[in-house]
Amino acid sequence: GRVYVNGTPIGPTGPVHQAGGKYFVSETLIPKIRSAMTVSLTPSFPHTDPAVTTPKYGRIVVIDPGHGGRDPGAISYSGYHEKEVVLNIARRVAAYLRQDGVRVIMTRDSDVYIELDERANIANRAGADLFVSIHADSHNDRSHQGFSIYVARSASWASKTTARNIESALVQTGVQNKGIRNADFRVLVNTTCPAVLVECGYLSNPGESAKLYDNRHQDRL
Ligand code: ZN
Repeated sequence: GRVYVNGTPIGPTGPVHQAGGKYFVSETLIPKIRSAMTVSLTPSFPHTDPAVTTPKYGRIVVIDPGHGGRDPGAISYSGYHEKEVVLNIARRVAAYLRQDGVRVIMTRDSDVYIELDERANIANRAGADLFVSIHADSHNDRSHQGFSIYVARSASWASKTTARNIESALVQTGVQNKGIRNADFRVLVNTTCPAVLVECGYLSNPGESAKLYDNRHQDRL
């Protein structure tokens, strides 16, 4: 491995270990890393703007409404398509994030089909800080209801933390919590940034599918 600080090579570096999406180098490099770092005492943004002082400002979040185009996703009890429900929810999420100064990229903002690998590539190319795929669930047994959150089996600490944060927020909507699960979905495995997939509820459940199509409920989600 090679270590650079602001473009200055630090070396010899010795072994570099990767764990949980982070790289670890030898402690003996600390003095060399310190000496290559420069500290700016001038804030780059005026501190009067509240949007600027939140750590969310300027972060890139990719919102991925599942399915689209020729792929309707799950079809609800009353005939709604998952692709429409999740696009509506995703647009609301995007609007709220943008209000907070987050840069949002939607993998799709219309009824188009996008390959799974391309969805992950959009996040990778953008250097995204977070990837959130939004879906709605379905089950042959209509009594199933509630939200679930998925991370990859080898998910990073950041992905798991994000999943827990989204879980505690969604609990407040009153939707039943089916918990955090592991699944190696392509969009979770092929993204290089923290990635989670949220199933917002069951379209196959009559009560929940009606709620999922309700504007106010979509907004709360
Ligand atoms: Zn789906």
